[in-house]
Amino acid sequence: MNIAVVGTGYVGLVTGVGLSEIGHNVICIDTDEKKVTRMKLGESPIYEPGLDELMTKNIKEGRLQFTTNHAEAFEAAHAIYIAVGTPENADGTANLTYINQVVEQIATYVKKDIVVVTKSTVPVGTNHSIKEKLNALLPTETKAEVVSNPEFLREGSAVYDIFNGDRIVIGADSKEAAALIREINEPFGIPIYETDICSAEMIKYASNAFLATKISFINEIANVCEKVGADVEQVAVGMGLDSRVGTQFLKAGIGYGGSCFPKDTKALKKIAENVDYDFGLLSAVIEFNNKQQRKLLDQAVADFGSLEGKSIGVLGLAFKPNTDDIREAASLTIIPELLRMGAHVKAYDPIAIENMKKVLPTEIQYTGSAVEAIEDTDLVLILTEWDEFKSLSLEIFVKKMKSSFIYDGRNCFSLEAVQEYDINYYSIGRKMLN
Ligand code: NAD
Repeated sequence: MNIAVVGTGYVGLVTGVGLSEIGHNVICIDTDEKKVTRMKLGESPIYEPGLDELMTKNIKEGRLQFTTNHAEAFEAAHAIYIAVGTPENADGTANLTYINQVVEQIATYVKKDIVVVTKSTVPVGTNHSIKEKLNALLPTETKAEVVSNPEFLREGSAVYDIFNGDRIVIGADSKEAAALIREINEPFGIPIYETDICSAEMIKYASNAFLATKISFINEIANVCEKVGADVEQVAVGMGLDSRVGTQFLKAGIGYGGSCFPKDTKALKKIAENVDYDFGLLSAVIEFNNKQQRKLLDQAVADFGSLEGKSIGVLGLAFKPNTDDIREAASLTIIPELLRMGAHVKAYDPIAIENMKKVLPTEIQYTGSAVEAIEDTDLVLILTEWDEFKSLSLEIFVKKMKSSFIYDGRNCFSLEAVQEYDINYYSIGRKMLN
């Protein structure tokens, strides 16, 4: 099958590469010329383990191409996948500017019947309006069908997820369009769930909102644990033994971030608001997460009084390990606040430094290693649970820091290990050690 994928971010590129790997002829389009030049050489513009290798393989085998030219990309396509960003508007609604641009481009360049597949996360009803717009703009003899095919991959393990996802959701009104998208996806060998368009759109938002709620729930439990002398790590194990609860998403910390949970929870709240429904539970999750992201900051201020003039080491800038994505990361809440308070910030992340430099180019002292970032500091904040940090020897903190105050927002170390050293250690939902 010939497939055009519009947008080569985390979702579009991984989807394009995955579809080519299972045998389709894929052409990926992006408006960013620099990105396209790199991708043509087999270089992924995003950090995603295993992606470069798979790109290079499929380019060599002739199934994967890249272009900035929509007309060229759409010419032979049986299906056009939309995988452009749907960022958040100031009021929390999803911004559909990029989606609307792609719809215009499809209407301009497509000359035959076409199936448009929306991978981007879009509010319920968007696919129906895409279909309406396309059929109004396309010549009368040409027909567009639209399929909602939301994406569930996780950044950092996206290549694994594209071949091993739990389900593929196909939301369609047309049996023929659904059959085509089923046929395209069947070689993945992943269970396919067919539904209507609105339900498919809602499945994506409901799934993300549920996971965000689960994270916030364990974080609230953690906050209570700290006050009553329980240990959230042990509580989570005990809860997870109940198969109805499950073990995943019970890791306490300083809240969720990233390009999806924050914006999708807010967008779902707005979707509900638009139909006069007050989604109180979700509002509480959003509000709570904002507070939780500040937790280390509040604790450090409580301990030190003022952070003015303090030298602070920050370990981890990405919103989670194994990605270079800093969108809505806790680091973006915490670091500007530390700077505002007059602290000197040294920061290290294995791969997200370049992205952080685009936001804070000179205000932070970026270091080439974790050890350099903690050297001569008054306190260290751990914001991302990279394996590299978890495997650091605690002795290094004692030796290198001016005074060993560690604020661990991701519970990277066991209390038993920390207790071996003279370290002031604050983590989430566990006993404070000092
Ligand atoms: P992204 O911002 O990383 O990438 C979007 C890409 O689209 C950019 O490279 C941009 O240059 C390109 N683009 C914009 N307009 C274009 C146009 N008209 N023609 C060609 N290219 C164009 O986005 P992302 O993180 O991959 O997310 C894409 C969508 O998938 C969003 O709706 C998001 O909510 C959803 N999603 C994301 C994830 C994730 O983990 N990132 C997971 C599931 C779903």
